[in-house]
Amino acid sequence: MMDESRKEQLTALCGKMIKAQSYSGHENLVAEEMKTFWEANGFRDIHVDRYGNCICHIKGSRPGPRILFDGHMDTVPVTDASKWEHDPFGAEIVDGRMYGRGTSDMKGALSAMLAAAVFFAKDCGNDFAGDIYVAGVVHEECFEGVAARAISEYVKPDVVVIGEASLCNVKIGQRGRAEIVVETFGVPAHSANPEKGVNAVYGMCRVIEEIRKLTPPSHPVMGKGILELTDIKSSPYPGASVVPEYCRATYDRRLLVGETKESVLKPIQDLLDRMMAEDPALKAKASFAVGKELCYTGETIEGERFFPGWLYDREEPFVQDVLEKLHEMGYEPEITQYNFCTNGSHYAGEAGIRTLGIGPSRENLAHTVNEYIELSELHKVADCYQGVMEALLK
Ligand SMILES: [Zn+2]
Repeated sequence: MMDESRKEQLTALCGKMIKAQSYSGHENLVAEEMKTFWEANGFRDIHVDRYGNCICHIKGSRPGPRILFDGHMDTVPVTDASKWEHDPFGAEIVDGRMYGRGTSDMKGALSAMLAAAVFFAKDCGNDFAGDIYVAGVVHEECFEGVAARAISEYVKPDVVVIGEASLCNVKIGQRGRAEIVVETFGVPAHSANPEKGVNAVYGMCRVIEEIRKLTPPSHPVMGKGILELTDIKSSPYPGASVVPEYCRATYDRRLLVGETKESVLKPIQDLLDRMMAEDPALKAKASFAVGKELCYTGETIEGERFFPGWLYDREEPFVQDVLEKLHEMGYEPEITQYNFCTNGSHYAGEAGIRTLGIGPSRENLAHTVNEYIELSELHKVADCYQGVMEALLK
């Protein structure tokens, strides 16, 4: 239950998190706020892993499922603070809205998860079946699902709740994404005598034309697989008087359920093999981009940029249990999918853990100038999270 004093506590916690600037790889101040709130409410179990993920835990008095609430601590940067009408790290409240970077994406949700866990445990005097975990996750913005691997290893959750913005609707899936790198390799030569070399960019131009003829799969619910060229780069760059010996193009591929690394790469690899068989001078290769980022703990986090899609049936019992409870509380959530990639990619797509999403605010407020959250949404989602806990930990 959310009364006025609880709403104020939650608003204050969210405000502190907004003031704690936390670009990817610099999330330590938010982790500190999580710990402070947890301990101030009398809970002690906090685990910070090697990447700096902060995992808060409350154990129920009876055995039961492990429910993990996942919210990332990092935000995208503020590129030009002068364009903001309110200080992006000021957490100013005007007309029922709190402004600041990360309010909608997703410190509102993370603070609501923490507050809901504390309120729920207090209301029932810890008499519930199972375990509640609230994880503040690092490095989600460019690297969704990678830091989450360490969390699911530690928590071994039975159900995961993702808090990305959904206007408190229930999300049961999302398209995934992959970054595919296509490379061509030539032979350098002086551009005054180009016939002595092999121009890697000419090779790439032909490859790109052929790749455009490929049609990625589509899915009746999730839509199109998408295969879109997003950048291209040759080497050496700039190439003064030289035939480029290397060219690299990146593709954004949106992933549907059931697609694997092998199945995604195969049509492109087959195409390259065929082209290379026809033209022995062409040397080309396709692979997934590899990301490598530094964490605030000093640890390096690394992985291929392949984040699978996932989709659950609305008739799944864990979805139905949650819906039934939310209806009983007077809410009428829609059941849909996320339009963007989330940590659910790991939990549901990679690890096969039952996952749903419910978060405050609109997804189109994420990453914007003047990002804000309606306080009514913030308070509502905390109420919904308590409902989710009641539904799954009874
Ligand atoms: Zn997000």
